[in-house]
Amino acid sequence: MLEVKGISFGFSRHPVLRGISFSLAGGQILSVIGESGSGKSTLLKALYGLYDLDGGTIRWKEKKILGPAYNLVPGEPYIKYLAQDFDLMPYISVRENIGKHLSNFYPGEKARRISELLDIVELSEHAGKKPGELSGGQQQRVALARAMAQEPELLLLDEPFSHIDSFRTSALRRNLFSFIRKKGITCIIASHDSVDALSFADKTLVMKNGEIIREDSPQKIYSDPDSYYTASLFGEVNEIPVSQIFPELGTEKNIFIYAHELHPDEASPLKIRVKASYFEGSHYLIRGLHQGKTLFFSNPNSIPAERIIAVRPDIRIVKERLNTKNGI
Ligand code: ADP
Ligand code: MG
Repeated sequence: MLEVKGISFGFSRHPVLRGISFSLAGGQILSVIGESGSGKSTLLKALYGLYDLDGGTIRWKEKKILGPAYNLVPGEPYIKYLAQDFDLMPYISVRENIGKHLSNFYPGEKARRISELLDIVELSEHAGKKPGELSGGQQQRVALARAMAQEPELLLLDEPFSHIDSFRTSALRRNLFSFIRKKGITCIIASHDSVDALSFADKTLVMKNGEIIREDSPQKIYSDPDSYYTASLFGEVNEIPVSQIFPELGTEKNIFIYAHELHPDEASPLKIRVKASYFEGSHYLIRGLHQGKTLFFSNPNSIPAERIIAVRPDIRIVKERLNTKNGI
């Protein structure tokens, strides 16, 4: 339903998007991940029609999305775009901000929809306040609710949880995506946080330097990352020669192993000199050195610096990875 073909765009000749193509079926949720500066925000703005492209086309249901040179008021009514910096109306209440673009023709229906959205973003008790009386995270939740209020056909969310405290994010994320699914809204979410990509997206694009370097299901990308860049978007990762952990497998290949997959194992030939332990709540992330190279693994407890620890992953994970792109 959304068809993006070879779009390119740059600010004063500096190319930011280079030949981006993908398509998305109606009702699907797509996540776009990539390091800061890789072009995620620029892509979303281009999809919303805020830029005149240097090349390529964007179509939503056969209709071409055009830039400001062809559109007096940039942006399309059936698309909602939630910018990284949300702009709320300061002099009206939370309730009025959310309902701002809703018709007053059916006041009962309008009130019902606003209260459903207030529930979803958990702001019912703040409905009468003005944005200035809210924290940054609460303001971002108002902006989210406002973007969803008209039930757009296509919803573009740029880092929608960036200002929201993590203890609230998971419930909010569940509410939000179940609303989006229920309403059949097609959604693209740009995020540097891979959790947003993993749990809710049907499909994920990995962006690097203005290009799509991977397009797959989030599960597939996580369990079968084909580059260090992609793997590292999901947390600390190690690139390890298989011969250093399971020489009996007789391969010269390297594999990517996430820190939480690497554990102390006395039988392992891979010995690490511990440098630091970082408390991460449910476990410690341990940083150590092996032949001058930094490696990360997780452990239930901290480990004193300079201690030598033998580590390796479960052999099942190694065999699995060797059968995929990951074996490099
Ligand atoms: P991301 O959202 O992935 O962090 P952006 O799309 O914001 O990346 O930025 C991609 C690149 O485009 C960056 O190098 C950034 O400096 C550049 N860029 C973004 N907006 C502008 C702008 N208005 N003018 C010039 N360069 C810009
Ligand atoms: Mg951005």
